[in-house]
Amino acid sequence: MIVCPYCETENIEGADECEQCHVPLTDMSIRVPASSVEADLLRDRIEILWPKSPSTVPPDKPVGQVLKKMVAEGIGCAMVVDGDKLVGIFSERDALMKLNTDASRLLDKPISQFMTPRPVTLETNDKIAFAIHKMNVGGYRHLPIMFCGKLAGVISIRDILRYLTERIAKSHGR
Ligand SMILES: [Zn+2]
Repeated sequence: MIVCPYCETENIEGADECEQCHVPLTDMSIRVPASSVEADLLRDRIEILWPKSPSTVPPDKPVGQVLKKMVAEGIGCAMVVDGDKLVGIFSERDALMKLNTDASRLLDKPISQFMTPRPVTLETNDKIAFAIHKMNVGGYRHLPIMFCGKLAGVISIRDILRYLTERIAKSHGR
């Protein structure tokens, strides 16, 4: 077995890429991290980023009210939650792409019409390298973080950049 250094899925010996996250596995098992920052990324888990408590809204909430809430709270995305089940994510990008110049006409429509349904999620114990890989592949700026099957938090590209900046500074001995 080769354990994927990104997502820790066990892959069969000789697999070219991880069946779970599709990172190339060739030479991965013998590869030494190129820098201390890379080693950090492959060791540290999302929980050390202290994922922020998510801002949640129900699926029937009008999109205009969701936007107001996002502005008031200074957040880039809202989690759409039905009961305690995560059903979608609504980001600044969804607002721009889906509302656009029709915004004034659409503000009373439910958020469920504009959210991205069934969002990609991560677990608190996933590695930071895996989060970066997911964001890169999917073009996501925010990812919901689950713990024991429940929505526990959200991380953004900014959280990752903050982490990277700290690690890079540390690796330069500052
Ligand atoms: Zn993997």
